[in-house]
Amino acid sequence: MTKWVYRFGDGSAEGSAGDRNLLGGKGANLAEMSGLGLPVPPGLTITTDVCKWFYDHEKTYPDALKRQVDDALEWIGGLVSRGFGSADKPLLLSVRSGARASMPGMMDTVLNLGLNDETVNALAADAGDERFAYDSYRRFIQMYGSVVLGLDHEHFEEVLDDEKARLGHEFDTDLTASEWQGLITRYKALVKDELGEDFPQDPHEQLWGAIGAVFSSWMNARAITYRQLHNIPAAWGTAVNVQAMVFGNLGETSATGVAFTRNPSTGEKRLYGEFLVNAQGEDVVAGIRTPQDLTEAARIESGSDKPSLEKLMPETFREFVSICDRLEAHYSDMQDVEFTVERGKLWMLQTRSGKRTAKAALKIAVEMADEGVISSDEAVCRVEPGSLDQLLHPTIDPTARRDVIASGLPASPGAATGEIVFTSEEAVARVKEGRKVILVRVETSPEDIHGMHAAEGILTTRGGMTSHAAVVARGMGTPCVSGAGGLRVDLKNEQLITVSGTLKKGDVITLDGSAGQVIRGTVTMLQPELSGDFGRLMEWADVARRMKVRTNAETPADAKAARSFGAEGIGLCRTEHMFFEGKRIVAMREMILADTEKGRRAALAKLLPMQRSDFVELFDIMAGLPVTIRLLDPPLHEFLPKTDEEIDEVSAAMEVSADLLRERVDALHEFNPMLGHRGCRLAISYPEIAEMQARAIFEAAIQAGGKAGALVVPEIMVPLVGLKEELDFVKQRIDAVAREVMSENGSDFAYLVGTMIELPRAAIRAGAIAESAEFFSFGTNDLTQTTFGISRDDAASFLQVYQQKGIIERDPFVSLDIDGVGELVKLATTNGRGTRADIKLGICGEHGGDPASIHFCEATGLDYVSCSPFRVPIARLAAAQASIRKT
Ligand code: ADP
Ligand code: MG
Ligand code: MG
Repeated sequence: MTKWVYRFGDGSAEGSAGDRNLLGGKGANLAEMSGLGLPVPPGLTITTDVCKWFYDHEKTYPDALKRQVDDALEWIGGLVSRGFGSADKPLLLSVRSGARASMPGMMDTVLNLGLNDETVNALAADAGDERFAYDSYRRFIQMYGSVVLGLDHEHFEEVLDDEKARLGHEFDTDLTASEWQGLITRYKALVKDELGEDFPQDPHEQLWGAIGAVFSSWMNARAITYRQLHNIPAAWGTAVNVQAMVFGNLGETSATGVAFTRNPSTGEKRLYGEFLVNAQGEDVVAGIRTPQDLTEAARIESGSDKPSLEKLMPETFREFVSICDRLEAHYSDMQDVEFTVERGKLWMLQTRSGKRTAKAALKIAVEMADEGVISSDEAVCRVEPGSLDQLLHPTIDPTARRDVIASGLPASPGAATGEIVFTSEEAVARVKEGRKVILVRVETSPEDIHGMHAAEGILTTRGGMTSHAAVVARGMGTPCVSGAGGLRVDLKNEQLITVSGTLKKGDVITLDGSAGQVIRGTVTMLQPELSGDFGRLMEWADVARRMKVRTNAETPADAKAARSFGAEGIGLCRTEHMFFEGKRIVAMREMILADTEKGRRAALAKLLPMQRSDFVELFDIMAGLPVTIRLLDPPLHEFLPKTDEEIDEVSAAMEVSADLLRERVDALHEFNPMLGHRGCRLAISYPEIAEMQARAIFEAAIQAGGKAGALVVPEIMVPLVGLKEELDFVKQRIDAVAREVMSENGSDFAYLVGTMIELPRAAIRAGAIAESAEFFSFGTNDLTQTTFGISRDDAASFLQVYQQKGIIERDPFVSLDIDGVGELVKLATTNGRGTRADIKLGICGEHGGDPASIHFCEATGLDYVSCSPFRVPIARLAAAQASIRKT
């Protein structure tokens, strides 16, 4: 016969913490605590299998269930010398939901179940306290009425407030027994009025009503939304816990409370929590009365004049502390516990791993490893890599008041304050004057790079989490709110129009890039603390990790930041970003618009020294660490002059007419530039571009190597290769330049030539391509675009719909599509290694900083991941976790 019901209590239990899937988190931990011999009121857990059965069979129960519940109730009654439904010694119950993962979307707990007009008198006589009995009964009607019968709990609150006003009482605790009795009469009338039926008096009817309500709550709207947000499968189902009541509302020697075994916001190793005397259940969190501190130390700190539990019930407190210590050691993690004291006797009602801030997670993990409670590998696994973001950026003081004027997407974490500017030029100009700015744009484009660099924060009114603004901002570690649709940029009048008024250029706003909020004025900030704990955890992570972590960087500032975050080289240096600065863009435009090779070479000759000095600087910063430089990649039109002024500037430099230039610009127009004349296709049409870049790289390597003494082995990466022949063509040119530079300088140097794998064809033909390529770098942004046939810049609108409709779980531009794109990466890895056993393999798309994608890279056996500077610590930690979990 299937076992549907598991018992716990009296120092034993049929289940344990390991039965979480069957008993839910709450049930499994109640069983575990009971098995440890801790004081837990006896109870039973109806398994999550019953929930599945319930939904598979039109909300009915398996036949054997009722019998198993009755037997267990009898066993419980025996333990506490009471009987469920008994008129003189009634057993009262709590009915509690509890899924595998903690889920606030579900049913509220029903307490004091089993009370009716008869049993309430027995409870009063038994406790010798009428007031307590009627208080419990009215609580039960109120809870059962709203949670199970579905009445609006406001109705009950109104009646209670009305009674209190009529009787002249301020607090619930002021009501006398007969006054509670009067209220109960009114509550029952309320139920009858609203439902046309009497409040159920039969305890069994009450119990099955409550059990049905728990199972039904699994499919309520709140729970469904919560599951969607947290990726919890509907198939898991919830368990139901039915437990003997203990009473925290039995006078001044009784109490109820909650505690964390360490401080969940700072991680400090100190018991942290609150309690209320003469109270039940949710009174502590409901804010009816101000709760009291548990410890004397906390009371002194908070300046409270109400005694601590330590002072009020010293013996109970001591027992509680020792139980907390025991639980923490047993689970080897910080616990979040709930307890009740009934006439001086302590009862444990719940324990679970406590939620905590990133800061606390770090401190707790490091200290527990130091205490020898967990290993350093385990400590590394205890911190959520993505949460490190919270530690690397300034954040808004959580206690500060915020005047939020609009919300958008939390595109890049951290907070920033500055004056509103609407153009990149303005941003750069104001920053030169020593001011701080927030760059506000409808959308950003590559030409905004300088403004974005100068700005403290970036705000766009259009675009998603993978828009240009979002991706670049995350890369730079600049806070960004994107797609704030409630705002309108009025460029002409230099105004930002909000629902509540208009802001002008120069007005100060604050962005919370972690919350996606736009805030008026300044707000108090907390600065990041890369203190001891952070450094130590990262050291342990570095020991545990197999894959290297590089960074995507081209500016010296980014490269330096990345090194300070522990990057072990550059995995992607996008040379095109180097061409937007100052006079360079003019030379670049000359090069593009020249219609002869001679003209192009003349312009390239101007660019060569600039490129060379860029590379020297990068090589110096990376001091011998590997640096992968990608040849010019984007479609040329991105560099073209647009305004008349820009055209005039270039035409003057080139000494050709503006009209002729305009013709050239038009001729370069493409319908689908991302699938157009870009990547290695440029190097094939205009080999002189690749040759100039190769020369700049080699000359820089000689120069930097000579200076720093560290050997520089540049890795030259050819983008957007689909055919081996493409790579061969470009490689020949690079090799020829290398020979030239060697003989000119009388020196010999090593270098690698490899390719991005970012087209499905390249992945499929990787075996052949590896005959020429000495390394592969998976460009998973483009590989995702080309595998799906989806443009990243246009995807935001429909990918969101796809997620809502359950077609895809996660945005494939944020987290690698393992089943599809991942399969191509695996294929290329296997075939690439098949041809060239020591081929270097890395990933340089946005995915290189995404923990789930990093796990995939570890499993696939890549040599390194490369990500934007501020994600380097996240990648180090995620790579370490991937290594640890693999073994
Ligand atoms: P949640 O999942 O919302 O925390 P719980 O099932 O833990 O809900 O119940 C909330 C509160 O109800 C508990 O913290 C406790 O104070 C009270 N409670 C639950 N079961 C009992 C019980 N058997 N005796 C006394 N109080 C209880
Ligand atoms: Mg609880
Ligand atoms: Mg690409």
